[in-house]
Amino acid sequence: MILGLDVGGTKLAAGLVRADGSLIAHEMRPTIANGTAEALWEDVEDLIDTVLRSTDHDYDAVGIGCGGPMVWPNGRVSPVNIPAWRDYPLKEQMRQRFAGDRPIAIHNDAVALALAEHRWGAGRGTENMLGMVVSTGVGGGLILNGRRIDGHSGNAGHVGHIVAEHDGPVCNCGGRGCVERIARGPSIVAHAVELGWSGEQTGRAVAEGARAGDDAAVRAFARAGRAVGIAIASIAAALDLELVVIGGGIAQSGEVFFAPLLEAFDEYAGMAFVRQCQIIPAQLGYLAGISGAAAVVLDERERGAI
Ligand SMILES: [Zn+2]
Repeated sequence: MILGLDVGGTKLAAGLVRADGSLIAHEMRPTIANGTAEALWEDVEDLIDTVLRSTDHDYDAVGIGCGGPMVWPNGRVSPVNIPAWRDYPLKEQMRQRFAGDRPIAIHNDAVALALAEHRWGAGRGTENMLGMVVSTGVGGGLILNGRRIDGHSGNAGHVGHIVAEHDGPVCNCGGRGCVERIARGPSIVAHAVELGWSGEQTGRAVAEGARAGDDAAVRAFARAGRAVGIAIASIAAALDLELVVIGGGIAQSGEVFFAPLLEAFDEYAGMAFVRQCQIIPAQLGYLAGISGAAAVVLDERERGAI
């Protein structure tokens, strides 16, 4: 049994996960991204205490998925979309408070999602895949030749910061024209408002508007989907992928997001080995982050790293 913690820009989620990926107990709450570091940590503590009080099960390892970037593997995190935490020692805090002598592992939340989808979801049986999250941020995790890719500093897969519009707006990361800057939920909402959207200012509401045919909402989703499709064409050319699995709240919007994405991919992907890459929605749903945190533990254990 693994205690899994998922820290995203929108929500915190924690639960107990069996080694087959099934959840025994779980809890969620919003991420207060602009408060103090201490207040956010107290929310994490309270969330996990609530999970542990709800079940008689114990756990024998702790896994964490958290928005990037981070110093890895020591787990000092600076999530782009959580200003409250800069160089925050999340893994050490979790070790002291919840892990004790148990093994503990941390990775980027999108890497965690990629591992979970590879092990239990839409990526089963593939050797070369990108797991992507399109939500408050845009992230990714890579599995190539059957292995998780960490890169030089453990931050490989930050596909949200691939440039999709070379003269585009400045991104929270300090770059410009990044796919995240264009396709993240808050950017879709802001763009829809610029185009005349007058409904509720949430990604979910704009997605509903787009599905109902509202012109501003349709165009806002089309711009986001297009940026992601262009980015995937570049990534697939660099990495020779079989599969891209996309999860996260925005990806759950359906055709209004996927249709312009696939159209842009078709336009920008040229070579046959790039064009054969399949792009499909994630299977594991809104709790994938928790099972992803557990998948990080299992992956690290199989490597002998913990
Ligand atoms: Zn960026």
